[in-house]
Amino acid sequence: MPYRRGGSNPLSRTNLNMRAINHSLTGALIGLSVVNPLIAIPVAFFSHYLLDVIPHFSKEKIDSLEFDIFLIIDALLCFILVIFLIINRPLNWQLAIACAFIAASPDFLSINHYLKEKRNKPWKAGLYSRFASKIQWFEKPIGIVVEIVWLLAFTFCISFFINR
Ligand SMILES: [Zn+2]
Repeated sequence: MPYRRGGSNPLSRTNLNMRAINHSLTGALIGLSVVNPLIAIPVAFFSHYLLDVIPHFSKEKIDSLEFDIFLIIDALLCFILVIFLIINRPLNWQLAIACAFIAASPDFLSINHYLKEKRNKPWKAGLYSRFASKIQWFEKPIGIVVEIVWLLAFTFCISFFINR
């Protein structure tokens, strides 16, 4: 069966994640507040799955242009967060950056899915993808409200660590 672009692939899933910037903000806050890397790093890692369980935004198919645009904006926001931490250097800023990266990193495991969809190749969900999709039980456009509130709340909390 041929796969066409633009979300017409019936197997094409919608975005399967809370936005990377929200994962990164959460990780950064964990790094800033937990301080001990032996605790902060595993907590940051597990925060990823906790966030994915929380209702979040999804609308676009993974093989759509819309998905790519969201991906670029998301990556840009993560980049801004890192630059922000480097410039302001709050206490434990290095750990904050490491935790931000670790908290977002499990989504790199989906890169194979993304590339397959891009090349219109059939993709079969492996064990991990099925797990990742199962825990993300609520992915709807209305989830954007949760994501925006999360973004503002965590940005607000992180700002408390600046200039201390
Ligand atoms: Zn995820």
